[in-house]
Amino acid sequence: MTRQVSFEFFPPRTERGRANLVRTATTLAAFSPAFYSVTYGAGGSTRDRTFAAVAALRAAGLETAPHLSWGRSDGEDVLALVNAYLELDVSRLVVLRGDAPSGTGQGVARHGAEELVRLLRTRLKAPLTLHVAAYPEVHPQAASASIDIDFLKRKVDAGADGCITQYFYNADGYFHFRDRCWTRGMDVPIVPGVMPITNRDRLLRFSDKAGADVPRWIRQRLDELDGDDAGLLAFGTDVVAALCDRLLAGGAPGLHFYTLNEGPPIVALARRLGLQNKTARAR
Ligand code: FAD
Repeated sequence: MTRQVSFEFFPPRTERGRANLVRTATTLAAFSPAFYSVTYGAGGSTRDRTFAAVAALRAAGLETAPHLSWGRSDGEDVLALVNAYLELDVSRLVVLRGDAPSGTGQGVARHGAEELVRLLRTRLKAPLTLHVAAYPEVHPQAASASIDIDFLKRKVDAGADGCITQYFYNADGYFHFRDRCWTRGMDVPIVPGVMPITNRDRLLRFSDKAGADVPRWIRQRLDELDGDDAGLLAFGTDVVAALCDRLLAGGAPGLHFYTLNEGPPIVALARRLGLQNKTARAR
């Protein structure tokens, strides 16, 4: 079974942070990822930091996909950034609308991801692979599940090559969503996004914001494990590994891990899943 994996990072603030990031990415290379991706702060707030992180990963010879959103830039500004990425031999992007950071008063971005995919496809000749975001549990701002799938279809029709999903802990929800996408004629890979469980409060905070459901039985157990870091990590690894196994057994084309820039939980998970390349060793 092909198990294409990718690892997502957020851009560090400092040179030292970038060096740590490259170290973590190099460790994760033992799992033969197809690419690493680096998030992009809404409204372009991490434009320079994202670029610097991508440049550092590329300098280490690692296949890297910058996330990109229109934010407050105009089209020419976005294209200039993409051209700078092309100079680094970047060959794929994760194309998003992006969210404005809370408290900035910027509200929802003016341009959706579909428009950005269209801009890149019409204005650039480079053979870029474009990934877009998908929501098995429905985007929090979508009017309905089927309208959400309509928007995804529009992104694919505009030229996206594949989708990466928001994370979830319910495999059946993913399969249902994937089947609906297939029924709508989307024949691109829909890769599940996987969030490791390593910290109760952070997980619940992210999930509330992203509209990701953390099932009651998981919440209950996380409450019980409050203060027991090792127990929580072991429980989280069990739950997420079982989810990944089910997804792969059910035909998921790969896994995209939200690493939160932390190597060890991802190494534990990837080892449990047997993703280790036989000729390489993760420390
Ligand atoms: P879009 O696809 O443009 O829209 C999302 C949804 O909004 C649609 O599915 C639809 O339901 C609704 N919608 C869109 N347009 C309309 C319309 N005209 N009328 C009515 N409804 C509409 N955020 C960041 O800030 N930085 C990142 O790096 C980042 N990386 C991500 C990576 C992945 C894999 C995922 C899943 C999410 C990521 N996000 C990131 C979060 C993402 O930016 C938010 O979920 C955002 O709210 C939507 O972005 P999108 O690209 O899915 O938007």
